[in-house]
Amino acid sequence: MPVKASDIQKILPEGGKKNCKECGLATCFAFAMKLANAGIALEKCTYLAPESKAELEDMLMAPIRQVVLGQGSRQVVLGEEEVMYRHQKTFMRQPAFAIQITDEETEAVWEEKIAKLGWQFERLGKVSRIDLVALHSRGSNGDKYLQMVRQAMSGTDAGLILSAADAATLLAAYEACKSRDPLVCVTPENVAALAPRLDKQAAVCARAAGLESLAALVDKLKEAGLERLIIDPGSLTLRDLVRDQTLIRRGALQHKFRAFGYPTAFFAVDAAPDLSQQLLLAAAAVAKYAGVIVVEDLTLDLFQILATQRQDIYTDPRVPPTVESKVYAFNEAGRSAAVLVTTNFALTYYAVAGEAENSK
Ligand code: SF4
Repeated sequence: MPVKASDIQKILPEGGKKNCKECGLATCFAFAMKLANAGIALEKCTYLAPESKAELEDMLMAPIRQVVLGQGSRQVVLGEEEVMYRHQKTFMRQPAFAIQITDEETEAVWEEKIAKLGWQFERLGKVSRIDLVALHSRGSNGDKYLQMVRQAMSGTDAGLILSAADAATLLAAYEACKSRDPLVCVTPENVAALAPRLDKQAAVCARAAGLESLAALVDKLKEAGLERLIIDPGSLTLRDLVRDQTLIRRGALQHKFRAFGYPTAFFAVDAAPDLSQQLLLAAAAVAKYAGVIVVEDLTLDLFQILATQRQDIYTDPRVPPTVESKVYAFNEAGRSAAVLVTTNFALTYYAVAGEAENSK
């Protein structure tokens, strides 16, 4: 819900009637209008009392924060969602897919899964990839976990997720890959040991069983100065997934409940032992608001199905999918080449373009 200029004006100096023009605008209301549209910095008004400034900052804050994971060309931007339903506007940030490797698997399996982070699937002119690799320690062998983290670092430039039951193992891995800005999983059980040892800028996935525990964990992380959060309510069934993700989105957007104002995660890998069940749950998570979705493995065809679903849901329904209307040349076509005429509707164009490319 956009903030109204009239609501902002009431908080400005002298109830928005000071009109001193020192911010460069003719009236306080003009300043309020610009502020509502993120067109001017709050600091331009130097007469704001600290409590009024804090109130305005809270009012203007996005209901669901933006969180960026990964680096360089593998960056994933999450959050900033504004609506419950896609037809109201559009869903902004498509979820990131993560594939999990564990320290109970062999090095050969690590290598095979890490190689999948290099897959690229192009559809309608957009490239999809598996975005992140989740590195999970099940055992107590910290050295093996570190070896796995290092293998992932050298094998892919995709973003990393770290999780381990043992806090010391997790901290050692965090130190080893800090330069890659990993997402560190923190739970109510290990928050006391981890929160003081993580950089304030660290990306943290708050994982708790149930919404109340999650809200309490988020508060603890914020108290520790950690604000770059992804939140996971620990849903283990399809029903819980839909309920939890819906309540979180509703809490953030409709009730401005700050503890839920972050992108969410869904660990399908913990919800079902069977890969096919995980993929069905992952598909539901794509449709129902999840920001990061972790599965045990993917085959190329199943990844393409999930990526297609993701692209369809996260395409802006207000903008018809089209390509620029112009002449496109394939296979070094010259002036005597055959000309195919088609519409610029993207699905049609890319179907025809694929055939033209393969017609050598
Ligand atoms: S500087 Fe502040 S008080 Fe002065 S006109 Fe601008 S908003 Fe109003």
